[in-house]
Amino acid sequence: MNVFLLVLAGSGVILFLARQFWIRLRSTEEEAYYFTRCHACQQKVRYAAANAGGKGMCPRCLRPLYLPESSQPLSKPLSPHRVGERLLQKT
Ligand SMILES: [Zn+2]
Repeated sequence: MNVFLLVLAGSGVILFLARQFWIRLRSTEEEAYYFTRCHACQQKVRYAAANAGGKGMCPRCLRPLYLPESSQPLSKPLSPHRVGERLLQKT
C-alpha cells in the first residue's frame, strides 16, 4: 500500500474525529438544559434553555407543559423512587 495514501487516510480520520469533538463541545456550550417537573405525572422533564418560557410536552404523559424561564429545584420529589426504578421487595 502506498505510504502517502496511508498518511492521507490517517489524517482524514483525525480531522474527522477532531471535527466531531469540536461540534460536540460547541453544542454543549450553546445548548444548556433546564429541568422542571410535570405537574400531572411528576416526571422530571429536561428542556433546552432556548425553549424556556414557552410550551412543551411531557414525554411521559404527553400533556402540555409550561417550560419555566429558569430551572426548577427538583430536590423534593413526591415519590422517593425514580421513574422506571425497580423496587426491591423485602421478604
Ligand atoms: Zn407528565
